[in-house]
Amino acid sequence: MGRTMRTPIIAGNWKLNNTISEAVALTTALKDLVADCAGVEIIVAPTFTALATVSDIIRDSNIRLAAQDVYWEDSGAFTGEVSAPMLKDAGCDYIIIGHSERRQYFGETNESVNQKVKTALSHDLKPIICVGEQLEDREAGRTETVIENHVSGGTAGLSSAQLLSSIIAYEPVWAIGTGKTATPAQAQEVHSYIRKLLKDAYSADVASQVRIQYGGSVKPENAAELMSQPDVDGALVGGASLQAESFAEIVKSAIL
Ligand code: PEP
Repeated sequence: MGRTMRTPIIAGNWKLNNTISEAVALTTALKDLVADCAGVEIIVAPTFTALATVSDIIRDSNIRLAAQDVYWEDSGAFTGEVSAPMLKDAGCDYIIIGHSERRQYFGETNESVNQKVKTALSHDLKPIICVGEQLEDREAGRTETVIENHVSGGTAGLSSAQLLSSIIAYEPVWAIGTGKTATPAQAQEVHSYIRKLLKDAYSADVASQVRIQYGGSVKPENAAELMSQPDVDGALVGGASLQAESFAEIVKSAIL
């Protein structure tokens, strides 16, 4: 199966940005700008506090909702956490899991990522599983080792059907929020390696259907070239998703 058989998926990770009123303004503007975009999945990931409001705005539109994290228990004495049933109730279809900022600042590990991935799937929420090497890993020639570790750790124990409901986001940590983008060739090299890992762990057929997004300083200027690579199936966008116009341009560059 070629890239053209996989629907591209563009997700905007708003991180710790936007009050509810700012989220309303951004979503309302985006909804208009991408109203005619077909053949691409469009996702926004606001903070927890804005999810339900954004969900109301995008109802009956072509935009879907993601959360930026989830906890693995459904309810109970876990102060500060948010559960999968709550995220579903707020209108989410996707959850970003294992973002490098969560691994770096909040102690996320392959084990917790895997637990959260399984939790999301068991509640019919699609996980966007983030993987990616640090600059020192790349410079020391450890990129593939780190990617193998993140991919096998994050997807451990998933059935083929569960993997097919998951999205992998390759995000080199050195490219996130730095303005340094991986070259299209660098992105393709790692995406194709991830697909090979999935082929070895599952099958060629399953691996060919899994969508792998690239993330790391994706902008309107570089999106089309990155997404022209055969194994790059879309983008996870941070900074450029905070402006409706730039995010809409990235969405449009994914349409073949
Ligand atoms: C991200 O947060 O996933 C990301 C890729 O950020 P940025 O686009 O700002 O590099």
